[in-house]
Amino acid sequence: MEVLKKQPCPLCHTNNLNLIEEDYDIPYFGKCYLMSMKCENCDYKVSDIESEEQKNPVKYTFEIKNKKDLNVRVVKSGQASIKIPALKMSVEPGPASEGYISNIEGVLQKFKKVIEAERDSAEDDDIKKTAKNLLKKLWKVELGEMPIKITIEDPSGNSAIISDKTVVEKLKVKNSI
Ligand SMILES: [Zn+2]
Repeated sequence: MEVLKKQPCPLCHTNNLNLIEEDYDIPYFGKCYLMSMKCENCDYKVSDIESEEQKNPVKYTFEIKNKKDLNVRVVKSGQASIKIPALKMSVEPGPASEGYISNIEGVLQKFKKVIEAERDSAEDDDIKKTAKNLLKKLWKVELGEMPIKITIEDPSGNSAIISDKTVVEKLKVKNSI
């Protein structure tokens, strides 16, 4: 692990940014680096994954069927979109998107956090109700009582759902004209 401290922060312009680079060697994925920047002064935070070898655009589909599936390892780069189509939920890449190494449980937790924030801040009762229903469903998924599919699409190829049950497809990258 390499750490560079007291770097200039692009957001608050103080020298409180820490750069951290960690090396990983993940079975069935290979060597990769997790790079993260975090400012101690403001909330600026960025992280991303980069693999040592060049990878191709890829789509992963994994069905969460039981509690054991929560332990399946997930690598998500900053370029990846992660979706739970049955619940119409997705996290798209953007300036604030993060790369991370986690597992299915961690991914579900991240979705839950977003919905919980929505539930707590919504003034509209319908939005609150929808959020509560989604949380109930995710809870069932975590208990292994509700099978559900999760997909990761990554044009950079630097993502993976590491299980022999994962369906791996080539991702068609849309040409932007
Ligand atoms: Zn800052």
